[in-house]
Amino acid sequence: MKITFRVLVILLCLGIAAQAADQLIALKAARMFDGKSNALVQNAVVIVRGDKIVDAGSNLPVPSGAQVIDLGDATLAPGFMDAHTHLTADFSGNYNERRLQQLDLNVSEQAIRATAFARATVEAGFTTVRDLGSRFIASQEFVDVALRKSINRGVLVGPRMLVATKGIGATGGHFDPSGGFRDFLFGREPDYTDGIANGPDEIRKAVRFEVKNGADVIKAAVSGGVLSLGDEVDTPQLTPAEMTALVDESHRLRKKVAVHCHGDQAAREAIEAGVDSIEHGSFMKPETLTMMKKKGTFLTPTLMASEWIMGKLDNYPPALQAKAKAATAARSEMFRNAIKMGIKISFGTDAAVFPHGQNAKEFKLMVDLGMSAIDALKSATGNDAELLGIGQKVGTLEKGKLADIIAMPGDPTSDITATERVSFVMKEGKIIGQGPRTRQGTVEWTRSPAVAAPVD
Ligand SMILES: [Zn+2]
Repeated sequence: MKITFRVLVILLCLGIAAQAADQLIALKAARMFDGKSNALVQNAVVIVRGDKIVDAGSNLPVPSGAQVIDLGDATLAPGFMDAHTHLTADFSGNYNERRLQQLDLNVSEQAIRATAFARATVEAGFTTVRDLGSRFIASQEFVDVALRKSINRGVLVGPRMLVATKGIGATGGHFDPSGGFRDFLFGREPDYTDGIANGPDEIRKAVRFEVKNGADVIKAAVSGGVLSLGDEVDTPQLTPAEMTALVDESHRLRKKVAVHCHGDQAAREAIEAGVDSIEHGSFMKPETLTMMKKKGTFLTPTLMASEWIMGKLDNYPPALQAKAKAATAARSEMFRNAIKMGIKISFGTDAAVFPHGQNAKEFKLMVDLGMSAIDALKSATGNDAELLGIGQKVGTLEKGKLADIIAMPGDPTSDITATERVSFVMKEGKIIGQGPRTRQGTVEWTRSPAVAAPVD
């Protein structure tokens, strides 16, 4: 049966598109990016049975009984991944208003908002995210873990999540939730239960506490940051001994380590300690990049974060404006050097610094700084799957992988902004939604009722 887009919309609206476990679907499009090759495949066909891809290639025969979805002049790709998000937060407006909001909103209300951020993210084509830090001041709630579980159980529509819980950092550092507030406003100094730890033993305790409470990945702040009031952006915040303990304990528990790091010294020490990815990396010098290359450490550049802040500088206090300017001025050259040196680049945006769902704007920033379009696409698919340790399951369009498949109009290798207009999203064989999009936003996007209700 051949189903055109309009007919599919009607079917979805009638609610008769609920997908059986072994349903056979043939997705067709003019092109396909498979997540690892250097060229697009023409006349692409991807065959999906249930939640898995059974075949993908050029001009494949459509098996009998398959439902054909012909997406026309579009490019199929593996679902995008974002290795650096904060789905339980929104820091995108006026800084001081957001700071006050942290104190005003109940954690339950913030959790409800997070469900909308999850939906916006997956509808933008990001079927997997790593969530690198979720904390609510003076609260012990693990909202990122709850969000991940609710999505996995089918209660909510959202991306597959690998979560870091609180993140780990030093007293007075980038992650100290009480930094910048009056002393003892919250009654006690934050401790390991808030992710704040000092000394190798306490760092190990914090790692164990986070894993106990559901962390899939360990995040730590090893240097200062832009959006924190009490620190300098590039100073080291953990000692080499603390970083060694952080990496050792995390790896013993089979968790990857992602470190927030702008400063060069902290980056060198973190790379030496064996972290899996450097997040941001703004001030890294070529010698530091050489160390990354040797060690195989990933760089997650989060260009969107500084781009957004620089575009709305008036939203931030003067001290943060100065930090943002310094980090942004340094990061473009650092990123160009990283491309030239062939550093492994993972796609990550720091979504929450800017509104959720705009993750794909990172692609153009990468390409504008010298990355090829195909390498940018790889960073958000095959590379991220490798960094996240889920390359066996997702990241490429290949037989046996989970059917996380998106489509975008035209050819993203000739216009990378096509990634911002994702027109079809399937996650684990279920259609999340589809419809044409414009640069201004979404039009005629149709959500599938098949994924709008809990399954357990
Ligand atoms: Zn972040």
